[in-house]
Amino acid sequence: MIITIDGKSCTGKSTIALLLSKKINFSYINSGLLYRAITHEILKNKIDLINFKNKEEQIKLLINHYNFDLQKINENISIFKTIEISKFGTEIAKLQFVRDKVNDYISEINSKYKNIIIEGRDIGTKVFPNADFKFFFIADIDIRANRLALERNSKEINKIKIEIQKRDLEDENRKNSPLKKAISAILIDTSKLTIEETVNILEQHLK
Ligand code: C5P
Repeated sequence: MIITIDGKSCTGKSTIALLLSKKINFSYINSGLLYRAITHEILKNKIDLINFKNKEEQIKLLINHYNFDLQKINENISIFKTIEISKFGTEIAKLQFVRDKVNDYISEINSKYKNIIIEGRDIGTKVFPNADFKFFFIADIDIRANRLALERNSKEINKIKIEIQKRDLEDENRKNSPLKKAISAILIDTSKLTIEETVNILEQHLK
C-alpha cells in the first residue's frame, strides 16, 4: 500500500508522515530530504550554485556517481535544513536528471517494502499517480512562517515569510513537475490542527 502526502513547505508533511508511519507501521520516505542531500553533495564539492546554469554537466557527473545512504541522511537531517540548502535545493530540484535520480531511488525503496508513506511535492501526481491514498496539505502563510521561525530559532518572521512565498512560487511554477493537488487527493488544512489531531484525521481516512 502506498500513501502519498504532498503540499507546500512548512505545512507539517514531514512531522505527520513520520508519526503516522510509526503509528501504522509503514516505511517512510521524505523526498525533500533526498533533494536536500543532493544539494548538500553539490555544495560539498564546491560547485558554486549562484549561477549554475552553465554547470549542469559538472553537476550531472557528480550526481551520476552519488549514492543515497538513507541511514546517514536521516542521522544528519539538521545539516540539510540550513538556509543555504533550502535556498539552492529548490533550484537543484528543477533539474530533470536530479528528479530522475530521486524518483528512481524512491521506486527502488518502494519495491523493497510492502507499505510505505512518501512525502513531497509531486508524489501523488507524478511519481505514484496510482497511490492507494493521497493527501494534500495546506496551511496559512503566517502559521507556516511561525513554524519555520520556531524550527530555526529565529525572530525574523517577515523575512521567513517572504522566503516561503518565494519557494511556493518556484514549486508551483516548476515546468517539469509543478506542485499541485492531485484530483483524488484529500485536502488537509493543518493551520488550526495540532500534530496529534492531524495524525488522527489521516488515520480516520485510512480506515
Ligand atoms: O520538503 P522540503 O522543503 O525538504 O524539500 C526541499 C526542496 O525540494 C523543496 O524546496 C522543493 O522545491 C523540492 N522538492 C521537490 N519535489 C519533491 C520534494 C521536494 O521539488 N517531491
